[in-house]
Amino acid sequence: MKSKLRQKFIIGNWKMHTTAAEAGHLAKSVVDGVGTEDRVSVAVCPPFPYLALVGKILEGSRVALGAQNLYPEKEGAFTGEVSPTMLRDLGCKYVILGHSERRHKLGETDAFINQKVRVAFAAGLNVIFCVGETLEQRQASQTEAVLDRQIVHGLAGVATNAVPRLIIAYEPVWAIGSTGHQATPQQVQDAHALIRLRFGQMFGKELAQSLVIQYGGSVKPENAAALLRCDGVDGALIGGASLKADQFIAIVRAGTSEWHTKQEAASQPSHNPELEPKQTQMNASKLDSRN
Ligand code: PEP
Repeated sequence: MKSKLRQKFIIGNWKMHTTAAEAGHLAKSVVDGVGTEDRVSVAVCPPFPYLALVGKILEGSRVALGAQNLYPEKEGAFTGEVSPTMLRDLGCKYVILGHSERRHKLGETDAFINQKVRVAFAAGLNVIFCVGETLEQRQASQTEAVLDRQIVHGLAGVATNAVPRLIIAYEPVWAIGSTGHQATPQQVQDAHALIRLRFGQMFGKELAQSLVIQYGGSVKPENAAALLRCDGVDGALIGGASLKADQFIAIVRAGTSEWHTKQEAASQPSHNPELEPKQTQMNASKLDSRN
């Protein structure tokens, strides 16, 4: 089967960092660094208070605006919360949902995340839906079960026509931030294959084949190429390195160069396994190994 190469997505999650001045400066540097790049889709997700400011700077550029969260109601008496309509109003194209910091530090459940996902789609947003296991879960050989549960519950009731606006980000919790642990390209590739397989069982093989799956967890300029080269890895969700424009741009460039490599391979007449969803059952012990 001849298939279209999936676009690479490099998205920065600024979390609860930056002042207004720093956010403006960072956004300008990212816009300048990305320039006219069109092989990789780039977005930044600043904190809520700086969405308008950053949105203005991104106008007319190739860098899209995203938010880090939303509340799953259109409007109402929800003190301190931000609705999907407000995000649209501010020019947001993306929203990050299911991030492990919200699951584990703020107690968000699969059911609550699912409400947010459905409301975000209904508002016309693109959803970056994060999944990933903790270190304890990996060590207890529960990675497959955890990913399975997060996907099945988090995406329940999502209409197939919303799927082109979905990105899944595989983010093993043990590899996020300064934990001292990094996932190997093999571990990442195995988890992505499992996610694509499980997603295909829910939404069909064709949609699974076009699904964008990003990796997130200590992606830096030094390891970006190796991770982005993996089968089934369609980009990266970047935390720490997205706060340094030069590092973020270096990762975008790694994405562009991997896109060209894959494009060349795809144009060869021989079969390209990267474009096919993996149908093999994952070897759970391999998936759960940490080193
Ligand atoms: C994240 O929190 O989404 C993330 C990937 O962080 P970092 O790149 O800092 O590991």
